[in-house]
Amino acid sequence: MIDKRRHSNASHAASSELRLADILSRDDVPEDVKQRVRALEGSVGKLQSSLNETLAQVRRLSEAVQQKERRQNRLEKQLIYNRKSGLPNHVVMDGDIHSILEEAEQSPTAKSVTVIIVGLDERYDNIKQTTEAGISEWLLYRTAERLREQLPSNGRLYHTRDHEFVMLVINLGPPASVADFARRVVKEVSRPMQFPDYSLAVGCVCGVACYPEHARSKRMLLRSADIALTAAVKRQRAVMIYDPEMGHEVIEKMELQNNIIRALEEQAISEIDKQFELYFQPLVEIDDIKSGIIDYHTVGAEALIRWKHPTRGMVAPARFIPLAEETGLIVPIGYWALFNATAELETWLGTRLERLFVTVNLSPRQFKDDYLLENISRVLRRNHIDPSQLKLEVTENSVMDDPDDSIRKIQAIHEMGIQISIDDFGTGYSSLNYLKRFPISTIKLDKSFIEDVLINSNTQGIVRAILSMAESMGISVVAEGIETYEQASYLYQQGCRCIQGYYFQRPMTLQAFRAAALSSAEVEI
Ligand code: C2E
Ligand code: CA
Ligand code: CA
Repeated sequence: MIDKRRHSNASHAASSELRLADILSRDDVPEDVKQRVRALEGSVGKLQSSLNETLAQVRRLSEAVQQKERRQNRLEKQLIYNRKSGLPNHVVMDGDIHSILEEAEQSPTAKSVTVIIVGLDERYDNIKQTTEAGISEWLLYRTAERLREQLPSNGRLYHTRDHEFVMLVINLGPPASVADFARRVVKEVSRPMQFPDYSLAVGCVCGVACYPEHARSKRMLLRSADIALTAAVKRQRAVMIYDPEMGHEVIEKMELQNNIIRALEEQAISEIDKQFELYFQPLVEIDDIKSGIIDYHTVGAEALIRWKHPTRGMVAPARFIPLAEETGLIVPIGYWALFNATAELETWLGTRLERLFVTVNLSPRQFKDDYLLENISRVLRRNHIDPSQLKLEVTENSVMDDPDDSIRKIQAIHEMGIQISIDDFGTGYSSLNYLKRFPISTIKLDKSFIEDVLINSNTQGIVRAILSMAESMGISVVAEGIETYEQASYLYQQGCRCIQGYYFQRPMTLQAFRAAALSSAEVEI
């Protein structure tokens, strides 16, 4: 549009120039008229150059806008596409299934929707663990390509977890042809991949579920396909199509496991008390940074568990939390931490510490626990605290695992007056835009961003974008893992004032935390 306008102005000027030149060359035109024509010529020239300058300014402005849009698109892309395969991730899949099922529900002609979860087998994990990262990434990329080649025109493909892909196909046909199709997919993915000196092969299995036969809602459809996938792995079959019997088996197994854990729980809790201890790490708010000095005050603490093993000494959470998560023991351990953190909060009532909040981590398994809401309200009844002083941290992946269930739980926790923080934000697959659906108060920017924020301009762009998006959504941001003055002051300059990190204080015993917070002027009262 700008170009067009410039073009017509230029041609107009050219034609007037011609006519002016004509007049000047004629003998019968009086000199005073010629002089006026020359003056006119001068002002047309000036007008033309000021017009050119304005146009150049407009062009520069529109380039800057386009550049900003490109940056924003790149960021959005990073958040909704899998970096390794380039395929859309489960955030996109979730939205797509939702709208496809809605459309199918309203369609005048019967429509079927088939979900095929393709899970790579343990050979992929072995390769990932034993070879350099580039090779497993290349395998994922090639697998994605092979799946794409198999995809029917009415199908969509997503990369939902590291070793899992999902195909969504509309009207794939009767069960026999669905099974044939899935078997072809398995065969194709399992073909060896050629490298210059060797060949590698990963196998896969497929779990299949169809709308409307097996489930009518998005959640149940995905769950059914997942149950079919689990059955395929267990029975060592390439393809399993969902059958309600499989669901019963899985649910029964889960209930049994829960019973065992519950039976162990009482005993476990008394053991936990002997061997575990809760540490608190301060969360601080920066008031000002001037000539190399940071003024800050403590606003709260994160409760972090420590295991004093009778023979091994201190065991780091990074070593035992994943194990506890795997065995389900994280559930009683997590409640133990929640109970003790709130009991500590209760002791602060009426002291200078009563304004501080405490955040407690909820592991993915604990977040999924059917008794979560009941247990939280029980803890609140036992320890008389102001719920607004308690925050619960859940990781973004645990929220995204079953978004419908997460919304229900987060909403209920929010209604109890407790705030929710999204932990390790940026390491998972969610986008802030997507988190709009949840009533969350805080996101904790993962340490991995902080590690290279001073040297990596890409990270700086992401951090800035997250901070500005969070601000526009009324969500506060805590930066985790601040170890240096430079990191703290960079974040402060970008508008992030709430910080947690070794630079300020390390996790410490409750006694040390109380003493530090009470004796310093850092507590704002
Ligand atoms: P997290 O929730 O991300 O907790 C923050 C971790 O970062 C803590 O490690 C903390 O000590 C560490 N950290 C804080 N500042 C810095 C820093 O400046 N530099 C570095 N390098 N690290 C810093 P910690 O205590 O070892 O805990 C590790 C993880 O274990 C936690 O990560 C959390 O996921 C889990 N965890 C700890 N306590 C609990 C608990 O009670 N329940 C559950 N479910 N998980 C817990
Ligand atoms: Ca945390
Ligand atoms: Ca964290």
